[in-house]
Amino acid sequence: MPNKLTLDDETLWRTWESRDTSMVGRFVIAVASTGVYCRPGCPARMPKRKNVRFFADCDEAEAAGFRACKRCKPRERFEDGSALVEKACEMLAESADERPGLAAVSRQLGVSTGRLQRMFRQTLGVTPGEYAAARRVERLKDGLRNGNDVTGALYDAGYGSSSRLYESAGTTLGMTPAAYRRRGSGMSIRYTIVDSHLGRLLVGATERGVCSVKMGDRDGDLEAILHKEYPAAQIERVNVAELGQLSRWVEALVEHIATGKPSLDLPLDIRVTAFQGRVYQALRAIANGQTRSYGEVAKEIGRPKAVRAVANACADNPVALTVPCHRVIRGNGELGGYGGGVHRKRELLAREARAALRESQGDASRTSARTALTAG
Ligand SMILES: [Zn+2]
Repeated sequence: MPNKLTLDDETLWRTWESRDTSMVGRFVIAVASTGVYCRPGCPARMPKRKNVRFFADCDEAEAAGFRACKRCKPRERFEDGSALVEKACEMLAESADERPGLAAVSRQLGVSTGRLQRMFRQTLGVTPGEYAAARRVERLKDGLRNGNDVTGALYDAGYGSSSRLYESAGTTLGMTPAAYRRRGSGMSIRYTIVDSHLGRLLVGATERGVCSVKMGDRDGDLEAILHKEYPAAQIERVNVAELGQLSRWVEALVEHIATGKPSLDLPLDIRVTAFQGRVYQALRAIANGQTRSYGEVAKEIGRPKAVRAVANACADNPVALTVPCHRVIRGNGELGGYGGGVHRKRELLAREARAALRESQGDASRTSARTALTAG
């Protein structure tokens, strides 16, 4: 099917006269007196207006009996342009993390950013930025549809921070990300709230494992967070007699809070993004009595630039203690935030440090006892 010229001859002529190259790929100009056709911006001598005809592309010009100009090589520019744009699209759409910016892409392809931008507009009708944004929105919608939470879906879609999306959420999604998601749909959650050494403790679980652990002062606050985390779930508070296997998990958590001892290899049933999953795995590998900075965790999971996303993942951790987000602190040694309150974070870390110290002293005395025995 032949292309169509969408612009009138007058506009095309003005573009041609100004040697504007931003229209390369949109039309060619054929000169009756020479039998040659050129792309916009050709440095050859300017023909007379009355001698020129415009065509949408090389094929049309050649079908009308014109041959390609040897100076501006219109066909090569057409073809190498679309191949280049295709390559650039691939690069811009690549894996969500560390997606190269426009400058990096053009550097790698050996063209100026200006030229790449023009070629994008010619080939696709949009700028590289618009193209990348459209792809991000697509990925975000997919992520939210697949049940991911907003923060994780944003990150996976390639948004560095959520603020940018929220600014334009109304137009790109047609609704807010929070309204878009349906988290916890199909989940049946039973929970209880008990006393612990650090105040009230909410533990929620499905048949498969623990899905929510919160500490706080008031039951109502903890329940509100649970409902916010799993807005589409079926949630039921149960009394002690009805706890079933949940009672063992509650006991383990209460004991951990009291003693600081590591005893929390509980089964989990949480709905998180791949990114959160990696963060939580790294958190569970932090030994009792130790801490890491958000930056260190980001490095550990191979996303050194994702410090803020790591902090967000910690803040969104649905299962306090079992995923020990309290062991992640700021790079400058400050404690940073904690859903259960910073005083609880401080107290947990102190208890765990004491427990770890007792354990290592226990090891040391056992070792010296063995040494004494061997020596004797
Ligand atoms: Zn030419």
